[in-house]
Amino acid sequence: MVQIARERISALFALAEREAGGGHRDLADRYVVLARRIGTRYNVRLLPEYRELYCRGCSAYWLEGVTVRTRLRSGRRSRTCLRCGRVRRTPLGDRAAGVPSAGAPTLRAAPRSDVALVGAPTEEEPTERPDDEAEEG
Ligand SMILES: [Zn+2]
Repeated sequence: MVQIARERISALFALAEREAGGGHRDLADRYVVLARRIGTRYNVRLLPEYRELYCRGCSAYWLEGVTVRTRLRSGRRSRTCLRCGRVRRTPLGDRAAGVPSAGAPTLRAAPRSDVALVGAPTEEEPTERPDDEAEEG
């Protein structure tokens, strides 16, 4: 059940990203609300990469420059929600936010196929024609 909840949350955030990009910000916000509700219902934490994407105050899906304003100041990154005004501050530095999630898929290198040499050059042998025709005497 927890696994299903995680998949649904991922799907909802993918939908939210798509709708926000398409201009349907109300739909994107709605998907964030649903994703958060699923997380609450099944006690599933949202991935850190998802938690960066919305406002914790009003569940608005954050689009940089549209619904959120990001400022870097005195070693901190403050993101202000332009809908409800809530500010979220995260420290900058070597332990800054945006840590890659442990569940991120890793790229797997394709096995390299060695090319075999085909059609090695063969020397054409001159065919000897034995002279086996005996002369009749
Ligand atoms: Zn907000």
